Amino acid sequence: MTEIPLVDVKAGYLRQKDAIDAAIRDVVDNVRFINGPEVARFEQDFAAFCGTRRAIGCGSGTAALHLALAALGIGPGDQVAVPAHTFIASAEPISWLGATPRFVDVDSESGCLDPAALAAVIGEVKAVIAVHLYGRPADMPAIMAIADAAGVPVIEDAAQAHGAEMTTPDGRTVRAGAYGRVGCFSFFPGKNLGAFGDAGAVTTDDEALADRIAMLRDHGRTSKYEHLVSGYAHRLDTIQAAVLGVKLRVLADNNRLRQELARAYDQELTGVGDLALPARGDGRTGVFHLYVVRTARRDDLLRHLHAAGIRAGVHYPVPLHRQPAYAALGLDPADFPAADAWARECLSLPIYPELDPALVAVVAKSVREFFDSAD
Ligand SMILES: *Cc1c(COP(=O)(O)O)cnc(C)c1O
Repeated sequence: MTEIPLVDVKAGYLRQKDAIDAAIRDVVDNVRFINGPEVARFEQDFAAFCGTRRAIGCGSGTAALHLALAALGIGPGDQVAVPAHTFIASAEPISWLGATPRFVDVDSESGCLDPAALAAVIGEVKAVIAVHLYGRPADMPAIMAIADAAGVPVIEDAAQAHGAEMTTPDGRTVRAGAYGRVGCFSFFPGKNLGAFGDAGAVTTDDEALADRIAMLRDHGRTSKYEHLVSGYAHRLDTIQAAVLGVKLRVLADNNRLRQELARAYDQELTGVGDLALPARGDGRTGVFHLYVVRTARRDDLLRHLHAAGIRAGVHYPVPLHRQPAYAALGLDPADFPAADAWARECLSLPIYPELDPALVAVVAKSVREFFDSAD
């Protein structure tokens, strides 16, 4: 039986092994492990990729969100809007600052923040975190219109969406991280751009905000022994920056490969059972960090695929309003019907740039067999 993994980090490494090994070797030879020249070089390259004036490297995607919220002045007593259906890291840094996550239901078609639900709470929040879930952009034109009218800054959680594109109301094409006030990226190894450990970045066009984020990530430093504010230990490691600099060169190609694989899945799976395929169009081009389908028979389909050696996954089975971590907020699940439906029905099929397109057909065949035998 062929085992088909959900993601394959090793395959990505092997494709660029010599260049990555050489980049790591250089850092080790120079022993500039903290704030080495590779960090600033990667920051410039990543800002150019995203189309922002600045990118500030940091220790993880969660740290990126923490820095963005802190630099925007979020603190005790504040509420920050965040979708109920996402990875918990989208919300955790809100609590780190003494503020409270204000969970918002998602759009039932895209799984991203529902603008109508956001409009209902916008008057009570100090910031909005919009998550480009699975690599598909949230409805930023609608979200920005609501937030701008209320004078509330929007943070893009682009941890799954490096290179995803959106069209603005005036017809420009903008990449994830360049639409809102600030963009937050994760370079966790399995992400579309992955380091060899934890790493992240914040993007923005606002120079003053960028300077503040850069200061906060490095102990609030203005010089070696002067600390303007009490900051954080959220620096981007030099070895990670060196690895990321090499991997950034193939990110656009890798995203194209993911999009081709997604199109192949779409063709193979259209009209199969009760499957709902990923949303398309709306001037939004996703980068398929994950290829997520929905079905009422999710758990049975997952078991069927696992039995066939296909490592499908679920992102995410428990929405944030139902997490024990947030029990003290006393939330009513009736307020989050779309997030509950996503958590119950979503299923992630294997996708990564090196996935052999022939294996997409193997996965799709197994999915079709499941629905044929169950009917
Ligand atoms: C991965 C991820 C994060 C956190 O990134 P880390 O680098 O793991 O801290 C935040 N938000 C979303 C949506 C993610 O997928």
